[in-house]
Parts: sequence; C-alpha cells; structure tokens
Amino acid sequence: MRRNIVAANWKMNGSRELVESLVGGVKAGVAKLDKDVEVVIIPPSLYLADVEKAVSGSALQLGVQNVARWESGAYTGEVSAQMASDVGCAYALVGHSERRQLFAEDDVQVAEKVRLILASGLVAIICVGETLEEREAGQAEQVVARQIRAALADVSGEGWKKIVIAYEPVWAIGTGKTATAVDAQNMHANMRGLLSELGAPAQEISLLYGGSVKPDNAAELFAQADIDGGLIGGASLVSDDFVRICGAV
Ligand code: PEP
Repeated sequence: MRRNIVAANWKMNGSRELVESLVGGVKAGVAKLDKDVEVVIIPPSLYLADVEKAVSGSALQLGVQNVARWESGAYTGEVSAQMASDVGCAYALVGHSERRQLFAEDDVQVAEKVRLILASGLVAIICVGETLEEREAGQAEQVVARQIRAALADVSGEGWKKIVIAYEPVWAIGTGKTATAVDAQNMHANMRGLLSELGAPAQEISLLYGGSVKPDNAAELFAQADIDGGLIGGASLVSDDFVRICGAV
C-alpha cells in the first residue's frame, strides 16, 4: 500500500511567530484527524530548527525546499542534502517549477540533486509539470515524461522507496486555477504507467497533485485512483485550511 502524503510548501514565507502559531494549529488539527496521512512541513531552511522543535511529540514530518547540487564545500549560500538530513528532515523537494523557472534548474541538475537526496537517506519529492504554452501545444504528457525520465535516471533498487512525484501544472501554481480532477487523474495514471516502464514498483510510489489545492477542491482531487495526496503552497499558510486539506485525503 502506498502512503497518502500532504506536504506544506511554505516557499519564502514565514517568521518565528508564524512557525509557532501555524505549526501549533496544524499539530493540534492533524492529531484529531482519523486519517492515514503523512503530513510534511517544508519551511524555509532558516526555520527548520524552529519547526523541528514545534513538531516534536507529533507525527508531523519535516522537509527542505531545495538542496545543493554538491555534497559540501565552497558553495556560499547553499544547503546540502546531508545537512537537511542532519537537522531532522525526512523529505526534500526537488525540481519545483519556481526553481526551474527562476533559478534555471534543468533536468540534469534535478537528477544530480535526486542522487544526493537519496544518498542522504531523504525522500525526494520530485516536482514535474508543464507550462500553459506546453499544455496548449498538446505537449503536457511529453514534458512530464521527459522530466520524470531525467530525474529518475540513476534510481534503482531500494532507491524507489525514497521517491515521491508531485505533478504540478505550472499554470495552476499560485493562480487559483486547478486542473480538473479528471485531467489530473489522467496525468497521474500516465505517470504511473511510465514508472512501470522504467522498472519502478509503480503501485507503491506516492503521486501527489499540486496547484491551487484548497479545502473545497481537495477531496475531489484526492478521491482519484492515482492521486495519493497533495503538495500545498498558499493554503498551507493557514492552519485551518491546511488541516482541512489533510483531512480530505
Ligand atoms: C506549490 O508551491 O507547490 C503550490 C502548489 O502552490 P499553490 O498551492 O499556492 O498553488
């Protein structure tokens, strides 16, 4: 059985005050849910220690938003996968569209990061998704398949247990537009088919949907056969909304 996962990507938002109020609310709310769901909080790296303290005693997991392409050394400003693991992270996001678009992260870099994330014992949440132009040109499946093939090029054996893929159509991130549940399911089913082709244990790999997931659309998305949870941006900054999304799994 694959895990249901709901992950909160805070992006570059937050403060110590927010950590306290938001994580406190999420911790209390998730504890009351009668759901089999792994909840992951992914704050800016500077607040990882604060969030780790705030989640202690709960089942909430910690994740990092990005890691360096290198193990260690003279890379000012970077944070390694090993460091993320050292401070208590269990998950690492990689290939988020904001990293791909604003920081020119390409498929090769994503694959390098996936390798380092797995080597550090973390679970990689690999983000993939097409732009609006690519969708309108009928290339959505092709783009997502290319991104997945590249990211997983070096994954095999036990490594598959540390892979989660989040389908996030770029046009749906932070825009209030969501893929229809049917379109999202079709893409997830294609992705699972591709994973099988690549020799992965496809039925055991959690596939998440991301892109303007809110309390009122989460249940329909999560009810789809191949959608195993969500990667949540904006709505993860409001504890009641995020808890309702976790409860929709
Ligand atoms: C994200 O940042 O991964 C995301 C899905 O953002 P939002 O939920 O705000 O669209």
